[in-house]
This record gives sequence, structure tokens and C-alpha cells, in this order.
Amino acid sequence: MEQYKLLTPGPLTTTAAVKEEMLFDRCTWDQDYKKITQKIRAQLLDLAKASPEDYTAVLMQGSGTFTVESVMTTAISKKEKALIITNGTYGERIVEMADYIGLNYKHYSVAYNAYPDELELRYILENDSAITHLVMVHCETTTGILNPVEMISRLAKAYQKTLIVDAMSSFGGVEMDIPDLGIDYLISSANKCIQGVPGFGFVIARLNKLQACEGNASSLSLDLYDQWKTMNKDGKWRYTSPTHVVAAFSKAIDELIAEGGIPARFQRYQRNNQLLREGLEKLGFRAYITNKRQSPIITTFLFPEDTFVFEDFYHYVKERGFVLYPGKLTEIDTFRIGNIGEVYEEDIERLCNVIQEYIGVVVK
Ligand SMILES: *Cc1c(COP(=O)(O)O)cnc(C)c1O
Repeated sequence: MEQYKLLTPGPLTTTAAVKEEMLFDRCTWDQDYKKITQKIRAQLLDLAKASPEDYTAVLMQGSGTFTVESVMTTAISKKEKALIITNGTYGERIVEMADYIGLNYKHYSVAYNAYPDELELRYILENDSAITHLVMVHCETTTGILNPVEMISRLAKAYQKTLIVDAMSSFGGVEMDIPDLGIDYLISSANKCIQGVPGFGFVIARLNKLQACEGNASSLSLDLYDQWKTMNKDGKWRYTSPTHVVAAFSKAIDELIAEGGIPARFQRYQRNNQLLREGLEKLGFRAYITNKRQSPIITTFLFPEDTFVFEDFYHYVKERGFVLYPGKLTEIDTFRIGNIGEVYEEDIERLCNVIQEYIGVVVK
């Protein structure tokens, strides 16, 4: 099979060293392995600027969605009520979870290329005192919009609500001071900006909030409280842990730190994204999200003309070393390009050349 770089944010292209960590089969009961889990948990708190007195990191088997669901089923009791703020399909997936779990919730949604409106949210919060939790996606991977987490944080503080943020595709690539933002549950996963392989997600949770959640979960495997209780003893996971993925993730965190931490990674992603947007704009592609709201993670582009066939474009680009993402909008024809993972300026330049070639040879 031809090798290619993934421009699909999750899973993404990882380094050879991260993949090599998976060549050894580790024992889940062994002290050395449990130490890896504990080291990861401490490093995640550091990356979040959170102290172990106030916060804890809990790892959860499965893809990112499993971890989001573990927070929704554990952090919100049946007596409480969530305000779920959405402008994309990952937010809508959280609403779907709330239905499955049987949670009380209010759904506030805006257009996929718009920000939630602070005044409207204030109005809702003023008039519905039953609301106890705010839930929002940080970077909506559906479009690449980076939602205003500072505004939601301000509201959560002003109205004293528990704040849950799905930062799946942004944590590790965008700087965030979790205690300062007052985030109570931040959710992300192994295969996004920390650049590990898929297999588990993690939650950075405010300790006193999580400690009050015993008995809330309506799922045994997704009980985040129980997972924390067990893992917090000595790093032993409840049930089989994804040992290869955990080892690879540990290496990926070390590499993130060696790169210069989140600020340096942000710079690389931001540069990649800028080059990508500028390069494609020159070729006649328009981005769906305005510059001001664009994340440094993934960009949605409109089809340049009616004759554009994504499948054809996809295969042309894949044969030349890059895999792209189809769009996720229903009304407009779009495709997406991620720029996170083991991806550098020269990759973006090479990609732009391939796309230029495609436009020149195939479309014209
Ligand atoms: C990737 C992602 C998820 C989780 O998706 P999985 O396919 O379950 O890993 C959730 N929310 C956002 C915003 C994401 O980008």
C-alpha cells in the first residue's frame, strides 16, 4: 500500500517513535505499566495548568465519544439539567447522548458558522434556574470553528454552573488554562493534538465535582467516577486497558513536551493552517469559516465550482501522498483538510502544489 499523510484530524499521522512504542506487549498488572498511566495523568494535569489538589485526570477506554458519554452520564444527575450549546454535529451528538441517558436538558443551537450569542444565553440562564451544567464543544471539528470558550467560561462563573467542555480536537494544540477558565470537566482523546494513536480518551476533572458523582452513571463501563476511584489507587485501569495505545501516548506526550509544549505546537499548527488557507484561496477555494473564528486544527472549504467531484479529487490527492476528509455540511458542498499531527510547513506546501496540479490538469 502507498504511504500517505493523514490530513484527517483523528486519527492523524504519528511519529515513528510513537508507533515503535507499540512493539512490546506490556503487562497491565505490572508496576512499570501502572507507572506509565500515573505519569500520563500527572503530565495531562501539567498541560492543563491544573494542580493535583484541585483536579484529576481520568483515562477511559474507547474512542473520544465514549469519554464524552462517560462525562454526560456521570457528571449530571437525573435531578439536574444541562444547557447544551451547539453549532455542529459533535455538539448534536452530545444532545443525542442526553436523550439516550434520559437527562434533563435544554438545547441551544446556532448556525454552523456562527458563535453562540452571549445575550441569548444570559436570557436562558436568567429564566431557567433549573439549569446546573453548561456543555459546549471547543473546536467544532464539523467545520473547524473555534468556539469562544472565554465567553462560556464567563457565563459559567457568573451563574455558578458546572462547565463541561468537549476539547477533543483542540486540547494539546490550543493553549488553555483550565482552572482559570473554570472548566470542571475537559474532555479530549489520545489521537488528536497530543498525537497518539486511537484507543482511549481522557477527562481533566475538578476533584470536588467528580467526588460528588458517585451513583449517577447509568452505564457500568462508562462510569467515570468508578473509573477514577480504581485508577486513582495505583494506576490500574478498570477492565482491560489499551496497553499499546497507552505506551504510545506516553511517548507522544514526551514528544509534545520536547517540541516546546502546547505553545510551540500551537505555533506549528497555526502556521500550517495559515499556509493552507492562503494556498487554497490562491487556487480559488473559499473557506467556510471566517479567519477570525477559524481554529488552527481543521478547515472546511467550499467546492470551487459545480464541476468539482470530491471523489475524483480525493483519489488524485491520495495517490500523491495525502488523505483528506469529506465535508459534513448538508446544505453546501464542502470538504475538509486537517493540519494537525506529524505535519509540517513543507507538507502543506507539497499539498498545495498537488492541488494546483489537479486544478490545472483535471478541472480545467
Ligand atoms: C474527534 C472528536 C470527538 C470524538 O470522536 P470519536 O470518533 O469518538 O473519537 C468528539 N468531539 C469532537 C469535537 C471531536 O473532534
